[in-house]
Amino acid sequence: MWSSTLVARPRGIILDLDGTVYRGGRLVAGAREAIERMRQGGHPLVFVTNAIETVAEHVDKLAGLGVVAHPDEIITSARVLVRQLQREMPGARVFVIGDPPLREQLAPYFRLSEDPGEIDVVIASVDRAFDYRKLNIAFQALRRGARFWATNADPTWPQGDGEIPDAGAIIGALEGCTGRKVEVIAGKPSPLIVEAALERLGRTARECVLIGDSLPVDIAMGQPAGMRTVLVLTGVTRREDLARAEAPPDDVVESIAEVMDRLGA
Ligand SMILES: [Mg+2]
Repeated sequence: MWSSTLVARPRGIILDLDGTVYRGGRLVAGAREAIERMRQGGHPLVFVTNAIETVAEHVDKLAGLGVVAHPDEIITSARVLVRQLQREMPGARVFVIGDPPLREQLAPYFRLSEDPGEIDVVIASVDRAFDYRKLNIAFQALRRGARFWATNADPTWPQGDGEIPDAGAIIGALEGCTGRKVEVIAGKPSPLIVEAALERLGRTARECVLIGDSLPVDIAMGQPAGMRTVLVLTGVTRREDLARAEAPPDDVVESIAEVMDRLGA
């Protein structure tokens, strides 16, 4: 069971964005002040998100809400994917099923291809222009042995009061026709994004606290890594969901506005 034990003196803070700092286009009440207080306390922090928009777009979005963020503090699933692909498959020919910001981030480092005969890796992500042509290119490439990667595996993406299909839907389509399983997922709750966040913070997992709104995505990522975890109730998780949690958080607060009091910082 989770307890209300103080999560004392973190030396690094990992903050989810959607559902924690903002919800859709609106800042969570008190988030700006909470983040300022974290900075005043000298806590290095990073923002982690499965959204695939560019770092600059995230910095601009936060600035528009009055939150100052340095580009290095923004860790996105797309950024982690590019970094891992550079390590494992430098120079790869890549077929992307994904929205334009993802292709924009891959294009400087990899050759984007639509020829199944030469594609080394298929990348599945959220693609609001997904069609049968793209599905078939990916299918043919995967049949020929291309690697199968994804930015993230979220089944849905909250939008306003509802949801739209996310990268998990594209992964499902490719798995469904090829019988293959996605091999690498870059975003939360993958250890790859944890590694990128800790590297940026210059901290070990045990020195950090992770603050997020999703039990299966944020809390399930932080806990096995050995981080303290704090669940906020401003996003996808409701208090009644906690009873069924396989990996309960160390602490639960109504919103990010309460986090620093709870941390005793
Ligand atoms: Mg979230």
